[in-house]
Amino acid sequence: MDALTRTWFKFCCRVTNVSHRENLEMSQTGSCMCAAVRFTITVPVTETAACHCRMCRKWSGGVFMALQLPADAVHFDNADAIRTFVSSPWAERAFCGICGSNLFYRVTAEGPMQGEIHMALGVLDDPSGVVLSTELFIDKKPDGFGFAQDTHRMTEAEVMAMFDAPE
Ligand SMILES: [Zn+2]
Ligand SMILES: [Zn+2]
Repeated sequence: MDALTRTWFKFCCRVTNVSHRENLEMSQTGSCMCAAVRFTITVPVTETAACHCRMCRKWSGGVFMALQLPADAVHFDNADAIRTFVSSPWAERAFCGICGSNLFYRVTAEGPMQGEIHMALGVLDDPSGVVLSTELFIDKKPDGFGFAQDTHRMTEAEVMAMFDAPE
């Protein structure tokens, strides 16, 4: 969020008596490390999931924490620098071609989830207040660490069963 927007938020909060936090949740801005890619999320952002699967571990270099968003909920100010890698028959992963920041995982497979974007939590300008609610592939998590947060934890089998479940 730029200085002007922050000022507007402060002003807006004062006159409408809406909390700063509530305003921030309505729209979130973010960018890659070099800021060649900038975006705005137009839906409230409250929860994040963490994925411990092998692909997310390799891609993120740690734990991939992401916000599950509908395709039309993210507006990119400048998408020229975005590069994508087809990581599986059902998804691609996007990153900044200049600084290499990981940006999002996008579902490409046909079906109800097609186009859905899982935006990396870490590229939000202000990720504070977004709560870690779910951990995926918990049985694939390296055994040397664990989140203290009380989360809904799903094993690989449980995640796969969820995707295979009849509509
Ligand atoms: Zn960049
Ligand atoms: Zn994963």
